[in-house]
Amino acid sequence: MVSDAGSDAANQTTGSTGDPEPADVAAALAGAPSAAASTTSTAPTRPTSAAAAGLRHIRLTSHPSQGPSGAPALRWGAADALERGPVVGTTTNRSQRNVIGTHSGSYGVYRALAVAAGNLTRGHRADLTDTAPTDLIGPYPAWGDAHKIVAIDPWGAQVQAVFADYLAQGYDIRPTIAVTQAHIHLPEVRQAIAFQRLEPDGEVLLDDGSAVVTKVAIEPVWWLPGVAERFKVSETELRRALFEETGGMYPELVTRSDIEVFLPPIGGQTLYIFGNPHDLANPAVTLTARVHDECNGSDVFGSDICTCRPYLTHAIEECIVGAQSVAHGGRGGVGLIAYSRKEGRALGEVTKFLVYNARKRQVGGDRADKYFLRTECVAGVQDMRFQELMPDVLHWLGISKIHRLVSMSNDKYDAITGSGIEVVERIKIPDSLVPADAKVEIEAKIAAGYFTDGAVPDEARLAQVQGRALT
Ligand SMILES: [Zn+2]
Repeated sequence: MVSDAGSDAANQTTGSTGDPEPADVAAALAGAPSAAASTTSTAPTRPTSAAAAGLRHIRLTSHPSQGPSGAPALRWGAADALERGPVVGTTTNRSQRNVIGTHSGSYGVYRALAVAAGNLTRGHRADLTDTAPTDLIGPYPAWGDAHKIVAIDPWGAQVQAVFADYLAQGYDIRPTIAVTQAHIHLPEVRQAIAFQRLEPDGEVLLDDGSAVVTKVAIEPVWWLPGVAERFKVSETELRRALFEETGGMYPELVTRSDIEVFLPPIGGQTLYIFGNPHDLANPAVTLTARVHDECNGSDVFGSDICTCRPYLTHAIEECIVGAQSVAHGGRGGVGLIAYSRKEGRALGEVTKFLVYNARKRQVGGDRADKYFLRTECVAGVQDMRFQELMPDVLHWLGISKIHRLVSMSNDKYDAITGSGIEVVERIKIPDSLVPADAKVEIEAKIAAGYFTDGAVPDEARLAQVQGRALT
């Protein structure tokens, strides 16, 4: 077992094994913009400075002595779990690591704070007793296809079982997926019961208006060669952009081409499954599904500038009906909400609110014909959600056919069908659920290619769709 005792200042500044080392960052980025290069070229000197200051020096994960020699090999796309190997992102024993980055997405920073503040013992290992999934998902054929799943670890929910021997040997392996059960209470569902659109059946929908679900939390695990392929860029280009645009946060991206898996510091996904999770993989069972991207303002706080929460709760209603038995007026199928943490088209809420102000203050007011332009002015792009990675979770669930896709997004539809999943029918949000101020968004999106069973607005029509002004 390699411990901190094995590292010292000298180790940080020498390296004769020929393996990549921190100093290679600058070399790897030769030709990079000077700002990035000058930032990264200081990295190797930092540990020495820290030691001189009397602090425990910083261990750089790209140092040769901390290479993957003691780490399990990862063979992405191998059908067998042990042949594929466990994803090890622990910061406790660095010799075991076979990935760049660490677990818990952006919450890894809070873990660092907890360590810094003395609230968390450095090197704490999770006690995984009784944490196993409430439902076993898979394995499905896509798990053994390196091109079908590149952004999550298909074995991430079962590490307690499939990597039990590694755990017994002392490897610090953490689940990247957790599966549990819940009841969810939503006022829109109770309203649907009151209006007799939904009827409690005691199984999917209880008498108190709560819905019974299996829910799944998923952290991103990126196999960089596959992610690069999905975006049609070279792996080198992808690694370099990730390195530079995170301010040089992960030097191994450009120094350790032998490590192919990255745990990005971003939000993950949550699944809500209505009915039997195993039915998701059966194309003969009617599947109602929505893939939804986070919108805190609407989803949680009920903001009326967009259709996010109304569409989400409509989809939940459709999922409940879809999962209920035919005897109770349902479709005898299964329902799925896949919720991705991509706030404000993955631009973040600050950018989103800046865009709201720009929309409302522009000459002529908030108009559908300027909807995308205002986002592009502030963010540089109209959208950064990039649905290319979204279908991975559907393949993880074994899905090959979605009978009812509750989404109008052409990007989502194209990504899903392009990945080989059949979509039978697309369900639009009912007009009655679109808030008045959200007409700007929905009309602009329909004009841009969103699914509709009605007329596509022309330029003259778009110019007339106006939102509320700031007060
Ligand atoms: Zn929204």
